Amino acid sequence: MRLIFIGPPGAGKGTQSAKLVEYLRIPHLSTGDMLRQAVRDKTDAGRHAESFMDKGDLVPDDVVMDMVRERLERPDCRAGALLDGVPRNQRQADLLDEALARSGMRLDVALELRGPDAVGGRRRAGRGRGDDQPGGIKTRLESYWRQTRPLLDYYQDRGILHRIDGQGTPDEVFERIKVALRSERGEVSPRCETPGS
Ligand code: AMP
Repeated sequence: MRLIFIGPPGAGKGTQSAKLVEYLRIPHLSTGDMLRQAVRDKTDAGRHAESFMDKGDLVPDDVVMDMVRERLERPDCRAGALLDGVPRNQRQADLLDEALARSGMRLDVALELRGPDAVGGRRRAGRGRGDDQPGGIKTRLESYWRQTRPLLDYYQDRGILHRIDGQGTPDEVFERIKVALRSERGEVSPRCETPGS
């Protein structure tokens, strides 16, 4: 199964993604991690992305989606994948649908992780990342509200959106995610719990 996570910066997507990929035993495709690695490796994409990331701006869609497409085509993604940090806007959502369709796949679940902004602020303060400085945070929050959040309607209309309350301990939040996935009734059942697997 293929899942995406949508939520504002600092909502706990990284923490919950780590738990979820272990539970479902699927690869974790974090575009933020992939881009930070590309910057460290000084690849062409990394050099291109760096200045956007430093400011908290979105990296151009084609740069990100080429990376995502290439990653989705690798054999370990055949069983599924958790996409974290993508899509960030409607064009990326369309490109993702196209990339999946080309391999005969589709998106099964969109998880929205929600919480009051104060929660995100406290969590971000503990991370100490360069783009967590006040200017970068403001830009990233603005881009979330303007470009990413409208995607919730898009996935709601497709009937694949689950809204998850992101408040509480990581374990409490993760329990809610498991309940949401169970309600997908077999369409999304963790491989470790599938009889005979
Ligand atoms: P994240 O770790 O998801 O908060 O991403 C960190 C930074 O990487 C963002 O502020 C953007 O500059 C860039 N980035 C990550 N994912 C994307 C994406 N899907 N599209 C454009 N830029 C992205």
